[in-house]
Amino acid sequence: MSQKIKRIAILGSTGSIGTQALEVIKANPQHFSAEILAAHSNAELLIKQAIEFDPNAVVIVDESKYLLVKEALQHTDVKVFAGSKALEQIVEMSSIDLVLTAIVGYAGLASTLNAIQHQKNIALANKETLVVAGDLVTKLAFDKAVNIYPVDSEHSAIFQCLAGEFENKIEKIYLTASGGPFRGKNREFLMQVKKEQALKHPNWTMGAKITIDSASLMNKGLEVIEAKWLFQLKPEQIDVIVHPQSIVHSIVQFNDGSMKAQMGLPDMKLPIQYAMAYPQRIQSDFPRFDFLNYPQLTFEKADTKTFRNLELAYHAMKQGGNSACILNAANEVVVDAFLKDKIGFLEMSDVIEKCLSKVSYISNPTYENYVESDKETRQLAHSFLLK
Ligand code: NAD
Ligand code: MG
Repeated sequence: MSQKIKRIAILGSTGSIGTQALEVIKANPQHFSAEILAAHSNAELLIKQAIEFDPNAVVIVDESKYLLVKEALQHTDVKVFAGSKALEQIVEMSSIDLVLTAIVGYAGLASTLNAIQHQKNIALANKETLVVAGDLVTKLAFDKAVNIYPVDSEHSAIFQCLAGEFENKIEKIYLTASGGPFRGKNREFLMQVKKEQALKHPNWTMGAKITIDSASLMNKGLEVIEAKWLFQLKPEQIDVIVHPQSIVHSIVQFNDGSMKAQMGLPDMKLPIQYAMAYPQRIQSDFPRFDFLNYPQLTFEKADTKTFRNLELAYHAMKQGGNSACILNAANEVVVDAFLKDKIGFLEMSDVIEKCLSKVSYISNPTYENYVESDKETRQLAHSFLLK
C-alpha cells in the first residue's frame, strides 16, 4: 500500500535537532519530505540544505542575510523569506503536514502557537515553549484538536510507554538525567568551571544552550515542567532520577505499581523519527544497544543542593502563573552570559532565584502578559549581570 509522504516544516533546520531531522528525512524519502526550512542566521548551511532537500520555501530570520540566500537560490524554485514575522507566518502554509519546532528558547513560542492556531500537528523539541506558556499552548492544541508529539528523548520515552495505556492512570513518572559533565562535583569545583568544560557532555552532542542547561541541571528542570504540560501531571507525580549511562530514557509507573521504561542508545534521531512517523515505527539503521557493553545500569539521587536549578524549576512549576516564564527568561540570559564568560557557573542560579522573587507574579497570564514578563525578566537579569 502506498503511503502519503509527510511534508515537514523544520523550524531551526540548521541546529542539532534540525540537522538530525534532515538525516532522518534523507534516509526515508518514502515517508518524509522537507517542506519548509527555517533558521536564524546560518545562511551557508540553510542554502546547502535548500539545494539538497528542495523545500517549497526557506526562512532566514536574520534579515541581513536575505540577499545572500535569495541569490544563492535564484536558479531554484525555492521561495525565500526573511524576518521573524515570516517565521511566524510560514507555518500557515496548507502544504505542511507537521511542524518540527527545533528552535532554541523563547524565540520558538510565537511560531509554535501560530502553527497550532492553523491546526498543524507539532513535533516538539523546543521545550522552552511549554515551559513559558504551557497552559496556553496545551489549551490551544486541545481546542484545535492538534497533537503535540514530544521529541525530547525523556518525553518521547514516556509517550512510547503510554502507547495502548491512554485509559490507564499514571501514578508517577521518572525522568532520567545523565547528571551531565559535573556529576559528583562540589561547589568549590563548580565555582571555577569554564564554558569549555561545561560544553563537554558525556553522552549527547547538542546545541550550546541545552548543553549548558544539562551541566547545570536546568535542562532537567525545564523537562519536568515540559512533562507536566505534555502529560497533564501534578508536580508530585514527576520525579527525576540520575542515570549516568543514558540508556533508560524515562519510566512510567501506573496505578497498579507496574513500571514501563523505554531504552536504547542515546541517539536523538530515534525520538525525532518516532515523533515524525507516529503512530508508525519505521525501520532504521541506528546502532543497536548491546547489553554486554553495559553490564551495569545505575541510578542515583540528583544533587539539588549543589545544582540548585532543578529545585528552582520545581518551585516555579508549583507557583504556576508566569513563574516558569520568569525562570526561563532569566535562564536564557545567564546561559548566554556564561557562554560569553560574563558570569560564573554557580552565579547563574543566584540570578534566576532573584528574578523569580522580584518580577511581578501574575496568576493567570495572557499571551501579552508572558511577552511582558519575558521582557521584564530579561532586563532585570541583565541589570544583575552588570553589578
Ligand atoms: P541549536 O542551537 O543547535 O539549534 C537551534 C536552531 O534554532 C538553529 O537552527 C537556529 O538557527 C535556530 N534559532 C535560534 N534562535 C532563533 C531565533 N531567534 N529565530 C529563529 N530561529 C532561531 O539547538 P538544538 O540543540 O538543536 O536545540 C533546539 C531545541 O531542541 C531546544 O529547545 C532544545 O532544548 C531542544 N532539544 C534539543 C536536544 C538535542 O539533542 N540537541 C534534545 C532535546 C531537546
Ligand atoms: Mg531531554
